[in-house]
Amino acid sequence: MIIGQIYFEHYWGSNRDNRLANIALTIVITTTYFFQEFCLLQLSILNIKEVAFMQVLSITMVFQNDKNWLWWFLLVLTPPFANMVEVIMGLESWSSWGSWLGESLIFFLLCVVMVNMKKITLQSRYNLAIIALGLIELVTLMVEKQFTLVKFLAPTAGLLVILLIEGQLYRSEIRNNQKIKLLRKKSERDDLTGLLNYRALGRKIKSLTENKEIHDIVIGGLDIDHFKNINDTYGHFVGNEVLNYFSTVLREKIHRAFPKHGYVYRFGGEEFSIVVSNHSIDEVYKLLQSIEEFFGDHPIVTKEGIKITLSFSCSLTNNLKGELLDLTLKRADKMLYSVKNDGRGWIITDQQYKSMKK
Ligand code: GH3
Ligand code: MG
Ligand code: MG
Repeated sequence: MIIGQIYFEHYWGSNRDNRLANIALTIVITTTYFFQEFCLLQLSILNIKEVAFMQVLSITMVFQNDKNWLWWFLLVLTPPFANMVEVIMGLESWSSWGSWLGESLIFFLLCVVMVNMKKITLQSRYNLAIIALGLIELVTLMVEKQFTLVKFLAPTAGLLVILLIEGQLYRSEIRNNQKIKLLRKKSERDDLTGLLNYRALGRKIKSLTENKEIHDIVIGGLDIDHFKNINDTYGHFVGNEVLNYFSTVLREKIHRAFPKHGYVYRFGGEEFSIVVSNHSIDEVYKLLQSIEEFFGDHPIVTKEGIKITLSFSCSLTNNLKGELLDLTLKRADKMLYSVKNDGRGWIITDQQYKSMKK
């Protein structure tokens, strides 16, 4: 009943706007509710193995999070517990303890197998588990020679209702997860240029630090030279066009040169960051040199026909052994100022930076 209540609340929450869906939902919920009530009533009157229903909660939890041993523990313990209560109430006898444990063990093993059958969907595996539960109960009824049609139909119908409700919940969970993924992706993109944004850079840095297959991380800072002049001369819309042009060229060239290991971020304003792993700083330097030449040879021609030649200042630095990537990023930023203070339009690397400081 508690699970049912949670499901109902979930449906109300997700379908509030659609009037027709609300009416349909009310009918479905009311029918299912009384159907459940009927099944439970049958169970209590007939004293059918209500274990089938009691186990639904632990099965659901096991299939939602099979890594948590507590759910497995509860799954195994529920049938013996229910039977023990029945013994205390005088409805069962201790003599059949072997069959309770056997039943519980068989079902536990079945769940272990089904949880790991990763080739079929989680929902199908869950459905199979519930069906198996029904079948085991059926066999038990037969073995104990208690089988009647009503005793069989009431739990079967109840389990079908559970399957129906769980199926709906599963599908809506999948939809929600897809929405969350989409939102997460959107939140990592810069609206103007479509590049990954500062938030994504933070996440990348975290994931690179945790990835054992990554080596030779080069971080670069790029800044378009005299960008403010472009805004001041031609307006911010032209400035935006320039940012888009710059981003597109940079992204395409980095991605082509370093597929899987090259990432471009808009750090903010007219500043960009690149993160390249598993390649040497020399390779990255050569590519950026060619990009600098490309911008020199290919001025942007805006929608209004304005021709603007761009140049950028850039710093490239290696992540040192054991150094936090945040520190590398800060060094790249600091190094960039040296380029800005020394004519702009060129690329500084660790070596040059060291010799400049001497
Ligand atoms: P420097 O060569 O030293 O880098 O000079 P700069 O003019 O490129 O840099 P500065 O920091 O003086 O100016 C950056 C300008 O970029 C100021 C800001 O208004 C503009 N800007 C930041 N974000 C955007 C944006 O999204 N669109 C446009 N059009 N301009 C932006
Ligand atoms: Mg600038
Ligand atoms: Mg700047």
